[in-house]
Amino acid sequence: MLTVILTSCQNNASSGRRSQSTQTEKKIQPITFNADSAYEFVASQVAFGPRVPGTPAHAACAAWLTAKLNQYGAQVTKQNFKARTYDNVIRNGINIIASYNPDLKKRILLMSHWDSRPFADHDPDESLQNTPIDGANDGASGVGVLLELARQFQLKNPNIGVDIVLFDLEDWGPPTELNMSNEEYWGLGAQYWSKNPHIFGYQAAYGILLDMVGAKGAFFSKEYFSMQYAGFVVDKVWKVAAKLGYGNQFVNIKVGGVTDDHIPVNKYINIPTIDIIHLDTASKNGTFYDYWHTVSDDLSQIDKTSLGMVGEVVGAVVYNE
Ligand SMILES: [Zn+2]
Repeated sequence: MLTVILTSCQNNASSGRRSQSTQTEKKIQPITFNADSAYEFVASQVAFGPRVPGTPAHAACAAWLTAKLNQYGAQVTKQNFKARTYDNVIRNGINIIASYNPDLKKRILLMSHWDSRPFADHDPDESLQNTPIDGANDGASGVGVLLELARQFQLKNPNIGVDIVLFDLEDWGPPTELNMSNEEYWGLGAQYWSKNPHIFGYQAAYGILLDMVGAKGAFFSKEYFSMQYAGFVVDKVWKVAAKLGYGNQFVNIKVGGVTDDHIPVNKYINIPTIDIIHLDTASKNGTFYDYWHTVSDDLSQIDKTSLGMVGEVVGAVVYNE
């Protein structure tokens, strides 16, 4: 992804604390989530090589993702689309949609991007900056969590409808040195789907986007646009996380906004959608996790504990509806 476009928000821990659970609220049902399995799903994606649209690795991974979601009992739709990247090239993308309980009206939308960035423009080694990245965290981690949730949905059917949408062409935005900050160049698959959903008139009660959820020590702050568009979803998810004992990882800190797939989903199809994303002003790049958009975003960065935590939280949100 994505560039931070707002940094004006300050730590607002004191007001955030008021939204913590009270003793009168109902307990939440913990869920089964296998972090080893999620990790294997990340490793399998990375093993294809960088999933850069137009490459054989990308095509092979699309086929694999589709097969896995079919195997786990979802109704799968492949949405082929064309989109123009910042360099004025029309590229082919594939959004992959997996639906559970397709007949139920009340639905939740879970999302991640499955493409990986074609260049490592933030790598400290300039000679590597044109190298496609593995995107183990930036891409594969969120998809790995969602695949494991899909496997769980087959084992135990949720009470509501769930749509998992894996967006393509999230990460072909302009390299930093071009100074093209326009948000329209990011999240091309999410833009397409939000304007052309797989089902005419599609709606969901709310959406949760996962991005960079697998690094060691991952933690998640309340991202600006998530709060603006979908504050009630942030409250709901952070409350569940606190009840599961993850209050130190889903922190009560409000931070600036990022351009990511949740923006078009909020803007064009009006589904209140949050971004669970690892932002860290103390990191090497001052914004995202340390190895964002570098060739070091590889499998060695992925930690089962982080994957498991995010999977448990999102799963508990779904099963407690
Ligand atoms: Zn990225």
